[in-house]
Amino acid sequence: MFFLRKKNKPTIIPRSEHSLSRRDIDPDALKVLYRLASLNHEAYLVGGSVRDLLLGRKPKDFDVGTDARPNEIRHIFRNCFLVGKRFRLAHIVFGKKVIETATFRKAPAPDAVQDEHGLYQYEDNTFGTPQEDALRRDFTVNGLFYDIKTFSIIDYVGGLKDLKNKTIRSIGDPCIRFQEDPVRMMRAVRFAAKLGFEVCSADIKAIRKHAAGLANASTSRLCEEVQRLFVQQATERSIRLAYDYGLLEILLPSLHQWMATKADNREQVWQALQALDTVSAKRETTNAVAFAMLFYPMVAEAVEQLRARTPAGKRFNTFHARRLAAEKVLTPLVKHYRFPRALWMTAVDILELSDRLTRKPEPASGRDIRFINHGIFPEILLGAEVFKTLFPSRTWQIEAWKALYKNAGPVARQQREGDFIPPANPHSRKARRRRPHKRRKNRQGEAPQPPTA
Ligand code: ATP
Ligand code: MG
Repeated sequence: MFFLRKKNKPTIIPRSEHSLSRRDIDPDALKVLYRLASLNHEAYLVGGSVRDLLLGRKPKDFDVGTDARPNEIRHIFRNCFLVGKRFRLAHIVFGKKVIETATFRKAPAPDAVQDEHGLYQYEDNTFGTPQEDALRRDFTVNGLFYDIKTFSIIDYVGGLKDLKNKTIRSIGDPCIRFQEDPVRMMRAVRFAAKLGFEVCSADIKAIRKHAAGLANASTSRLCEEVQRLFVQQATERSIRLAYDYGLLEILLPSLHQWMATKADNREQVWQALQALDTVSAKRETTNAVAFAMLFYPMVAEAVEQLRARTPAGKRFNTFHARRLAAEKVLTPLVKHYRFPRALWMTAVDILELSDRLTRKPEPASGRDIRFINHGIFPEILLGAEVFKTLFPSRTWQIEAWKALYKNAGPVARQQREGDFIPPANPHSRKARRRRPHKRRKNRQGEAPQPPTA
């Protein structure tokens, strides 16, 4: 198929010539699209969902683009909340699901001025036409629209060609686009890994040139995007690309430095991540497990250093050393990016405790029963599966632990006791909020007394 695209004119692919079926679109997203269209608004499915559906993948979420203004959207849908300060977005809520509905907006002006960091500064986003909305998006494959009125695909940016050629390409000049928003460089790497695509050479060149700009992006966005690099089944590729393009050096400098010193260090990281990808092909892994595996080789080296420093005759506690080493390696990052506590503390637990699953559990032991009933255990199990893939020659007792978990773990207990609430990850914010406050003791060791009248 070859589509001609004139300047300003989109390529329009009629329903008979593309594979995107309404059957694959979320019914609530369809409701939103139909409702807007019935009121004579333009209503398109936009962004990642169109890309994923054309590739035959299941989209993570469905976003809608429309010419209706935020206030109009709010009046059309009772289940709608407006969010965002700079640009108002409509969140249309269906139970736990949110269909993000945004008014078409304009690309930033090309003659915007650069600030002292070399980042482009723009006025607030303003409403625009569908074409302007397509052009402000990051990559061509993310700039496709599906029109609910005609069921056709509208392509203003050459996304269909790049989708066919498996290419990630910025819309417009990549140097400008990456300076406008440095996080787009990480998104390029993530999409290449997730979709099995190649980043085009102009974009690679631009990333290498502007990688340092990432340091100027907000830490909260970076923290979020670092976690999004943990792509299911493709974390090794995304971290490899981030390393090759010079992004890891800015994102996780200590890890990059450690990897850059020796080829063997790099090899260890790739192997750990390959093991992670192998496990995530069978079952979904979590960010904490990925985080633990990414840093595992570096932590293992730190443990060996602690072992070497232990005076002769003094007992070396491996579990304690692992925790110390993991905390030493992860703490600077946590301070810099403020990674969620649940993420890094769980990662530390995985690094410390997965090894326990190399010995047989003892069903009669209170310690083992407490261990499997701990909220962290499912992730320790997952971590142990990855370590088993990484070190197959060691004896792992994962099946025995799984059996014990099934028979005496929280699910079995809930079936038995009914009103028992299975423990959440104790590091999660929700679990910490639920934990009762301990009454502080004063210096004499007495609990403070309520003031008397
Ligand atoms: P995923 O499947 O991982 O959610 P996605 O393409 O849907 O991928 P989102 O982060 O959900 O990615 O963003 C939705 C859409 O918004 C993108 O497809 C893209 O068109 C646009 N977008 C998101 N972030 C940017 C950005 N930094 N610059 C320009 N456009 C962006
Ligand atoms: Mg999305």
